[in-house]
Amino acid sequence: MKNLYFLCLIPFLLVSCKGRITESATNKSLADSVVIADFELLKKNFIDELWRTYPAWATGSGFHNYDSLLIVPDKEERTAELVFADGVDSALTKVEFDKLDANNKTDYRLIANFTKGLRFGINEFKSYEWDPSEYNISDAVFQVMDYRQNSLEDKIHLLGLKLGNVPAYYAAARQNIKLPTKEHTQLAVMQNQAALSFLKSVCKDSLAQAKISKEEKAAFNAVANKAIKSIADYVAWLRSSFPESDPAKFRSFRIGKELYAKKFSLNVESKYTAEQMYQKAVERKQYLHTEMEKLADGLWPVYFGNTPAPDSGLLKVKRLIDKISEQHCKRTEFLASIEKQLPELTAFINQHNLIDLDSTKPLKVRKTPEYADGVAGASINSPGPYDKDAITYYNVTPLNGYSEKEAESYLREYNNYVLQILNIHEAIPGHYTQGIYANRSPGIIKAILGNGATIEGWACYVERMMIEAGYNRSPEMLLFYYKWNLREVCNFILDYNIHCTNWSRQQVNDLLVGEAFQQTEEAAGKWRRATLSQVQLTTYFTGLTEIYELREELRAKKGAEFDLKKFHEQFLSYGSAPVKEIAKLMQ
Ligand code: ZN
Ligand code: ZN
Repeated sequence: MKNLYFLCLIPFLLVSCKGRITESATNKSLADSVVIADFELLKKNFIDELWRTYPAWATGSGFHNYDSLLIVPDKEERTAELVFADGVDSALTKVEFDKLDANNKTDYRLIANFTKGLRFGINEFKSYEWDPSEYNISDAVFQVMDYRQNSLEDKIHLLGLKLGNVPAYYAAARQNIKLPTKEHTQLAVMQNQAALSFLKSVCKDSLAQAKISKEEKAAFNAVANKAIKSIADYVAWLRSSFPESDPAKFRSFRIGKELYAKKFSLNVESKYTAEQMYQKAVERKQYLHTEMEKLADGLWPVYFGNTPAPDSGLLKVKRLIDKISEQHCKRTEFLASIEKQLPELTAFINQHNLIDLDSTKPLKVRKTPEYADGVAGASINSPGPYDKDAITYYNVTPLNGYSEKEAESYLREYNNYVLQILNIHEAIPGHYTQGIYANRSPGIIKAILGNGATIEGWACYVERMMIEAGYNRSPEMLLFYYKWNLREVCNFILDYNIHCTNWSRQQVNDLLVGEAFQQTEEAAGKWRRATLSQVQLTTYFTGLTEIYELREELRAKKGAEFDLKKFHEQFLSYGSAPVKEIAKLMQ
């Protein structure tokens, strides 16, 4: 496979270096069209090579030509990835950037940023040395077996080829891991144990139903058993080499200020630094507290009559939030309540001329399928760039498995007000609507290298936009919107402080419970998430802030000419490019 890899790299380098247009061309527009055609070729080759290099990513994006590949994550592989980055960069330097149209300029910057990120990951961040949970084949296996277009027999064949590399894959993992974090090691043990039983059941079930010969079955079983054994060995090796009781075996999960700043700049691609955004988050928290206390003054007599309010403003807000959270749907009607609200959101958006909603693209509310379950809540499954017309699923965790007490706590969290904000965020006009527009934007570079802060920022931005447009104009709604917004703001504050200023678990709890009105369980979950990820929790507030600022800038500039609907549609037409790139295109 290594050889095949290098072989494939060569045509990429050759093709993207040839055919430059010279300055002597007399017809400028013709010349420009050749430049663009050249760049189109570069992009095509980039994607081809990207998928060969990262077949699991390809499969997950709906591109299935490399389903049989499993890349062994060893040192040679990392060298090959760096060669790939060099090839892409050298091809990019030959592009006459100024002659590209706006859309292609964005693609150019996304590709350039991708190779920067690739180098940063391998040379500086080096999570392959300290995050043992990076090594897990379940997702790659699942995506192959879930592909509807292939017959079961074909899928077994592809899976057999893929599993052949599993022993080498885990051997490389053991070579790579130097000083892991305790948290990622525990996660790796847990997830690889799950992978073990998942793979066993996939192999057993598929073989039982497949129409293949005895010999083929035996050959597949031989490969599968070796793969299963190497996963079990990996788990055992992690346990014996890194015993939880020995702190000397582990590094801290905190990545520190310097790496954090770099990762923030490469992943979020904000116009602000992490530190600047952090200051904005702290200011916004202050603002929200002030506004919530004002609302609480008005709401207190409505819910508590003459009962004296607590002296502390924050405590007063908390008591009101607890009280109003009692307004929630029945546990048996959770899914139906969501379904019922979606047409109401659509009607409001149409009446107020906020954005064109494409009614031809289906949205289906469903119970979260088992394989994706485990984290309570709601999520959106948008169709990928290779499957644009597929259904968007709005996954909702059914409350069946919950005890009375758990269900009550969950329903209070997603009370009548918060449920509306959730639907705006996940569905209309949030993630679902953004996904449809993103699939309409030209080319697939922006979809593949989509920016997380743009995607989350949009969903957070529309919450605020809908409230401002007068959706459910009540002080209760505003209070819960502020609570929700406070969560986005505090996600930033805690992620930054955990990684850069050594915040303790207690400090995180104090922030979330004391200042953001969350439950202790929610705070514990957030702590865990922030010890396992870095920067991702900042995308919500950063994206929201930048989109909002862009809108206000354009509004100030255009004055009476400014059209909110046009702003929304134009913003989304650029796909999931970073907000600062979209800003350049819109200004
Ligand atoms: Zn209740
Ligand atoms: Zn979201």
